Amino acid sequence: MSATIYPWQNSAWEQLQLLRARMPHALLFYGAAGTGKADFIEAFAQALLCENVQPDGHACASCVSCGWFSQHNHPDYRRVRPEALEDEPGADGEDGADADGGKKTKAAKTPSKEIKIEQIRALADFMNISTHRQGLRVVVLYPAEALNTPASNALLKTLEEPPPGTVFLLSSNSLDRLLPTILSRCRKFALPMPDELAALAWLKAQGLGDAEAWLREQGGAPLAALAQSEGGNREEMDALLQLLAHPNVENALKSADKLSKIPLSALVSWQQRWLYDVFCYKLSGTIRYFPRYRKEVAALAERVQTAKLMQAIKGANDRRATAEHPLSPKLFVEDMLLDYTACCT
Ligand SMILES: [Zn+2]
Repeated sequence: MSATIYPWQNSAWEQLQLLRARMPHALLFYGAAGTGKADFIEAFAQALLCENVQPDGHACASCVSCGWFSQHNHPDYRRVRPEALEDEPGADGEDGADADGGKKTKAAKTPSKEIKIEQIRALADFMNISTHRQGLRVVVLYPAEALNTPASNALLKTLEEPPPGTVFLLSSNSLDRLLPTILSRCRKFALPMPDELAALAWLKAQGLGDAEAWLREQGGAPLAALAQSEGGNREEMDALLQLLAHPNVENALKSADKLSKIPLSALVSWQQRWLYDVFCYKLSGTIRYFPRYRKEVAALAERVQTAKLMQAIKGANDRRATAEHPLSPKLFVEDMLLDYTACCT
C-alpha cells in the first residue's frame, strides 16, 4: 500500500511542492500529535523517490521505486523511529535487531521510546554508499523529540555536513523539546490541525460512531481520536475521570494499581485536559474536552480556588515530563492522584 496524505493536508502538500525545485537537505515538519504527520512525511519520501512522479507531486504507486517503498525495502530509504513504534514485523524489525547486536531478546524487554545513537550511527553506512537508483537518498525520522542527547548530537554532525543527495525529513509534536542547534539546521514546515468538519468527516468515513465525543476528548486530533477509540482504554479513562470528578484519597489509592497498567503519558494528558476544562469553565463557562462531564466540571470549578487549580495544573505539567520514565508506575499514579486530591478537595 502506498503512503497517503489526509484531506486536511492537501494545501500543505501543494505548498511543499514549491520547495521541490530547491530541496533543502533537512525539513522539519511540526504540528499537533495525532494529526497524521508521519503519514504525510512518508508520502513525501515516497514521492521524492518515485521515478514517475505525478503532476500533483504524488508518487505514481506503480514504478519499481514505489514497489520497493511499499514493501519497506527501498535501498535508498531509511526510517528512524523509537523501537516502541516498530510494531510491524518483517523489514521494519531489522533496525531493532541491528541495535541489539543482532539478537532479539523478546521476553520482558520494554521497547525503547527513545531514538538512540546506534540508530543514527547506522545511517552512516547507508549514506556512504552510492544510491541504487542514482536518485535521492531519503531519511525519515520521527518523532524528533524522541532523540536522546547522544543521538541528537550525532544527528547534528550529519546535518552540519550533509552528504550530497540526501534529504532528511523530520517530524515533531513539540519544537520546544528539540535542541536549538537541530532546529537551526532544518527548514521548518508547519502541518495544520484539521478543522472540526474535516476531522469529523474523516472519522465518520472510518466508521467511527460518536466521532464528535472522541474528537473532542483528543483535542481535535483525528488520528489520536481513532487510536483512542480502538485502543480500548476507554474504561480506564472513565475510571480516571470519575476519580477526578470526585477526588477522594481512599478511591485514589484503590484505583492506582489498575490505572498504572496503561501508558502513564495518556493518564497525565487526560488529567491535563480535565484541569483545562475546569479552568476554562471557571473563567468562561465553556468546556472543550469532556462535555459529558459538564455537571462535575461545573461543581469543581465552583468549589476549587483559582490558586489551587493553578497548582494542580502546574503539577500535571511537571508530571508530563517524568511520565515516560517513572521509577514505579503505581507510585507515579498514586502520587498524581493524591496531589490532585490535595488541590481539589
Ligand atoms: Zn512511483
